[in-house]
Amino acid sequence: MSSPSLPGTRTRVGKYELGRTLGEGSFAKVKFARNATTGDCVAIKIIDRDRVLHHRMVEQIKREISTMKMIKHPNVLNLYEVMASKTKIYIVLEYVGGGELFDKIANDGKFKEDVARRYLQQLINAVDYCHSRGVYHRDLKPENLLLDSHGVLKVSDFGLSAFSQQVRGDGLLHTACGTPNYVAPEVLTDKGYDGTSSDVWSCGVILFVLMAGYLPFDEPNLVALYRRIQRAEFSFPSWFSSGAKRLIKRILDPNPLTRITISEILENEWFKKNYKPPHFETEEDVSLDDVDAVFNDSEEHLVTERKEKPVSMNAFELISRSQGFNLENLFAKEMMSSINELSLQLSDFHD
Ligand code: AMP
Repeated sequence: MSSPSLPGTRTRVGKYELGRTLGEGSFAKVKFARNATTGDCVAIKIIDRDRVLHHRMVEQIKREISTMKMIKHPNVLNLYEVMASKTKIYIVLEYVGGGELFDKIANDGKFKEDVARRYLQQLINAVDYCHSRGVYHRDLKPENLLLDSHGVLKVSDFGLSAFSQQVRGDGLLHTACGTPNYVAPEVLTDKGYDGTSSDVWSCGVILFVLMAGYLPFDEPNLVALYRRIQRAEFSFPSWFSSGAKRLIKRILDPNPLTRITISEILENEWFKKNYKPPHFETEEDVSLDDVDAVFNDSEEHLVTERKEKPVSMNAFELISRSQGFNLENLFAKEMMSSINELSLQLSDFHD
């Protein structure tokens, strides 16, 4: 646990100044931060190091994080770099200011079909691209769907599922919201599953929620919920079009072998309406030195989380920097010397 800050002090990790907490997911705390060199805003996911690094999944985590660092897709939250201190791992991510997609439903109610389709298209683009690079989400759910300030969907936590699995320790039985409403039947039975088709299932549940404003599978008791999911027992609200119903039925097929695939979704008539293929470039020259350093347990590149005193200025510097202040008024000698003794503490890190 971090110690409480004195008023006006800042916490710094590497070149980043940490700010307010943005949220707390199932395995990490997410903080706003600013790159002190460039001024760029980022989000930093902070994970307890000893909860994850001594486990058998380090290789998988390392591979997926390396891949995510190379993936630059408009609908996937950018992963800039990873850092580690003696006790924590810091994952530096693109900051997005539009909040969670599902907060929009909570505030404004369900979406019109065209709007829901547009979000599904962006979600499928993200999932398809990461799958093509061998990375599966395995835990797609509302908290992972963020919006940027232009309303573009950004999927978070791609490639980080191994972290959450380790922290929870028991498969997917305890998601952040307490129930596995978005999880595919084959994942619940835990008989070994294919990440591709289980991610597709979660996209189907998400589409249903976007258009209905409520979950397709919802029961107060877990056993009943599992049974419903396993049998894919749900019913459509009256306002769903027949095209949307046909697609959702094909996605929420309890048999992963006959479930619709992403390439079939991309050919589906309902899905294709107003579809815009994503435009993006692939980055070839991405350094993975930071990932190697974090996961090879090297002591060399460790960062420290340290408290810093805020920028200190004396009153004269402060006044001379403020625009429109007439310094002629201050030229009385006594006033100058007394002002010079007065030191003001400025803290400009408010968001
Ligand atoms: P997560 O651990 O990804 O579920 O994150 C928990 C919460 O933190 C999310 O639901 C968001 O509200 C917030 N959050 C996570 N990542 C970001 C980000 N990159 N930019 C802004 N907010 C974020």
